[in-house]
Amino acid sequence: MLRIENLCARVEEKEILKGLNLHVKPGEVHAIMGPNGAGKSTLGSVLAGREAFEVTAGSVAFQGKDLLDLDVEARAHLGLFLAFQYPVEIPGVSNMEFLKSSVDAVRKARGKSDLSSVEFMKLAREASKKVKLDQAFLKRGVNEGFSGGEKKRNEILQMMLLEPSLCILDETDSGLDIDALQTVADGVNAMRSPDRSFVVVTHYQRLLDYIVPDYVHVLAGGKIVKSGDKSLAKELEAKGYSWLDGEVA
Ligand code: ADP
Ligand code: MG
Ligand code: MG
Repeated sequence: MLRIENLCARVEEKEILKGLNLHVKPGEVHAIMGPNGAGKSTLGSVLAGREAFEVTAGSVAFQGKDLLDLDVEARAHLGLFLAFQYPVEIPGVSNMEFLKSSVDAVRKARGKSDLSSVEFMKLAREASKKVKLDQAFLKRGVNEGFSGGEKKRNEILQMMLLEPSLCILDETDSGLDIDALQTVADGVNAMRSPDRSFVVVTHYQRLLDYIVPDYVHVLAGGKIVKSGDKSLAKELEAKGYSWLDGEVA
């Protein structure tokens, strides 16, 4: 699904990623943890293709294609989805129209015809129920005036409708209460399948009680410095990150 080799990237002339390796097979869930400022969101931005981020070395293969060669749209069409740490408000653009045009664009790239409004509304309503977001949110501007938790639920709603093959969730659990956390986890778990993979960035072991990962990685100093199974998350919760300083160096 995803093969990242020696990825180096910078933003504003500052080196952030310094030789990152990560291999994700279809069906796997990988959790990425790590100190603030380590480069976790930068990794998501580089994979999604945000322009401010310049790749200076390394390679990324996504479903056998050279990801770095593709523009943002082509990556999304190929099935890459990034749930933002800080979802953006787009006042004046209705959430429903935004979702429908995104879904139609992805369907078109997969050789499928546009959904009718009725078909789309049915899917959108079902997904809204699953993330416990009132249907009224479909009519509002994209994330406009949504609370932090509502924005995160809306990211999961988008993910459900777009049916990506690789889902990257950047701190989707931050700022959520326990019920919302459970809802987000249920949404992710319902989407787990042998041909879909997840990269879940989180600061909290608690999320990984609900979304049980196959692998846990520590990203520090711009690369993956330690990998393990879910017990690594428990160890980090107990010991913090400082015991890994040797490995970062
Ligand atoms: P994390 O998500 O692990 O907390 P980030 O990837 O957001 O870390 O940030 C890594 C480093 O890159 C930080 O020092 C941050 O200040 C810097 N950085 C991120 N985005 C930008 C940007 N657009 N301009 C300048 N510096 C940035
Ligand atoms: Mg952070
Ligand atoms: Mg971040």
